[in-house]
Amino acid sequence: MSTKQGIDGQRERFAKIPRVDHVVAHPRLAAARQRLGPGVVTQLARTQLQQVRSACRAGQPAPELDEVAAQVAVRAEKTLRRRVRKVINATGVMLHTNLGRAPLSGGAVEALSGSAGHYSAIELDLSTGRRGPRGPFAEYALAQLAGAQDALVGNNNAAAVLLALTALAAGRGVVVSRGELIEIGGKFRIPDVLARSGAEMIEVGTTNRTRVSDYEQALDDHSDVALLLRVHQGNFRQTGFVERPRLAELAELAHRRGVILVKDLGGGALIDFSELGLTGEPTVASCVQAGADVVCFSCDKVLGGPQGGVLVGRAELVGKARRDPLARALRLGRLPLGALEATLASYLAGEVEQIPVIRALKTPLTEVRQRVEGWCRQLGEAGVLARPEQISGAVGGGTLAEAAVESVAAVLETEDAVRLAARLRAASVAVIARIQDDRLLLDGRSVLPGEDADLLAAVVAAFAGSE
Ligand SMILES: *Cc1c(COP(=O)(O)O)cnc(C)c1O
Repeated sequence: MSTKQGIDGQRERFAKIPRVDHVVAHPRLAAARQRLGPGVVTQLARTQLQQVRSACRAGQPAPELDEVAAQVAVRAEKTLRRRVRKVINATGVMLHTNLGRAPLSGGAVEALSGSAGHYSAIELDLSTGRRGPRGPFAEYALAQLAGAQDALVGNNNAAAVLLALTALAAGRGVVVSRGELIEIGGKFRIPDVLARSGAEMIEVGTTNRTRVSDYEQALDDHSDVALLLRVHQGNFRQTGFVERPRLAELAELAHRRGVILVKDLGGGALIDFSELGLTGEPTVASCVQAGADVVCFSCDKVLGGPQGGVLVGRAELVGKARRDPLARALRLGRLPLGALEATLASYLAGEVEQIPVIRALKTPLTEVRQRVEGWCRQLGEAGVLARPEQISGAVGGGTLAEAAVESVAAVLETEDAVRLAARLRAASVAVIARIQDDRLLLDGRSVLPGEDADLLAAVVAAFAGSE
């Protein structure tokens, strides 16, 4: 082909590319125009047409108007699907950070639906009619449940740790073990948070071994230490030749030398999970009892509430954090605050089974097996081969890291587990499955009560679509 012919061909192809206004006005995009507005649809059409032009430049024929409109409709659908949506968690990881961690209790949902669409007396003392403290019930309940003098609620635990370090140690030294300079995920790295707080990090010990005498040496060598920081290692584990002082030993040292002991606990267990056979997760109260002056933890890990972060501890220190200007920037919104209060009310009433994560962890294995056997039977009737298998999973969220949670999963017979998982994610109620050794598993413990029908419908549809 001569160059002239090539240029002529390209010109011809380009001339056939549909115009952007014709694409936007296409009836196929009526719903998209209504839901996203014409401006967004025009933007999506332009992006699609850019792709069309590059394809034409590479020698491809120009697509018809209908085809371009259909492609833009797919883009619009994808944009809308990026909204926060309900999904079914069949991964077995009960506290999955990518899936919003803890689902809320019925009481918390009721609290939200009762107040979300109304005004609420969030910072108004109804007895005096004057401005009052924000969320006093949550803070009172948290202090009670932790056996601490006071509590302060913020946006998440990252905020609680940052606030504790800023309010209590900015411009001064913080002693921390080299074995605890960890990254928790989502770029939360202890050395970075310390740097941002304005405190000076004083590392002690080695990666695998830190002794009380190391902390003591640091206190001898540095005159301006504000606090000792102890970090729960989450799902990072060291085994073998390792050594760390007990929290109570650090507390003894801190108090003897007149510095503060802050514990970043992470999880926020308000009940003793070892009673469920899940060991290795200290309760908030046990940390306070061991002598930590301030304990920081999340509300949406093993506590089972909405996103939030808490500082509990000595009144004078929590008060200092409350008065810090950063506290205002890191405060909790009124919706999660209401949900947190309802969650804490379940703890006060001793009704922890109301909290979905705790209920799921407490469900006996036999009950999980019966449920999964039921799924397999129903799937079999619909022509999908599945069989139950006992598995061992993790709680997630960096909590209960040492505790293996026994569960039962439905293993689906498939050639391509990755493709099936993608189909399940595309279901109208998306199902998030677990892939293990090229097999697709649906865990019977993390699927919430009442989600069975949607789960099975998604599986049957995914198989029907693949035939
Ligand atoms: C999870 C975790 C955090 C961060 O908590 P968020 O509530 O996710 O902000 C901080 N420290 C530790 C030890 C954690 O486990």
